[in-house]
Amino acid sequence: MPLEDIKSRIAAAETAAGRPQGSTVLIAVSKVQPNDRIESVLNEGHRCFGENRVQEAAGKWPAFRDRFDGIDLHLIGPLQTNKARQAVELCNAIHTVARPKLAATLARLAQERGDCPDLFIQVNTGEEPQKAGVLPDDADAFVAECRGLDLPIRGLMCIPPVEEEPALHFALLARIAARNELSGLSMGMSGDFETAIAHGATHVRIGSAIFGERTAPGGD
Ligand SMILES: *Cc1c(COP(=O)(O)O)cnc(C)c1O
Repeated sequence: MPLEDIKSRIAAAETAAGRPQGSTVLIAVSKVQPNDRIESVLNEGHRCFGENRVQEAAGKWPAFRDRFDGIDLHLIGPLQTNKARQAVELCNAIHTVARPKLAATLARLAQERGDCPDLFIQVNTGEEPQKAGVLPDDADAFVAECRGLDLPIRGLMCIPPVEEEPALHFALLARIAARNELSGLSMGMSGDFETAIAHGATHVRIGSAIFGERTAPGGD
C-alpha cells in the first residue's frame, strides 16, 4: 500500500479518536526489506524507520545516513546486552528495554556518552512465555528501577498475542503508562494500527502494509 494511503489512514484514525493530526509517529518497519524498497520510501520523504536486529540495522543504515539527512532509527526487536553499545551508537530510540541487566548497561553507556536514545519499556501484556517484556504486574517496579538509573524512559511498548483482540492489550498498556505518568505508547502494527491509535498510540510500527510482505522471516 502506498505510504500516502497509510498516512491518510493514520490521520483518519487520529480524527476519529478526537486527537490532533500528527500526534502519531509512523515507524516504517524495514526489517528484511530489500534496499530499493527502503530507498523509495526515503525518496518519498519519510525518515522514521524501525529495525528488529542491531546487526541488520548496522549493515544498511550507515550508508542510507550518508545519503539522506534526518534519519530517525528505532530498534524494535530484542536487544542483547553485548549489542547495547552498537545499538545506542546507531539508534535514536530503543523500544525493547525489559531486563535489569540491559537497563544497567544502558545507564552505564549513557553516563559514558553523555547521551542516550529515547527508551521504551516492553510489556508482555499477554504474559506469553516465549515473548520478551516485563509482566504487567512487574511494570511499575521496573519503570521505577529505570528512573532510578536516570534512563530517559519515554513510554511503553507491546506486541499483543496474535490470536487475541488487540484492543484489550492496547488498553492495558495505556493504563500502565497512565499510572506511571508515561506519555509514549508504542503499539499497533499493519493489522491493528487504527485500533492502537484509538487507544492512544503515539508510535505505530508498520512494516508489511507499507513495504509489502517480507520475503524472509521477520525474526521476532
Ligand atoms: C515486524 C514488526 C512490526 C511490523 O509488523 P507488520 O505486521 O509487518 O506491520 C512491528 N513491531 C515489531 C516489534 C515487529 O517485529
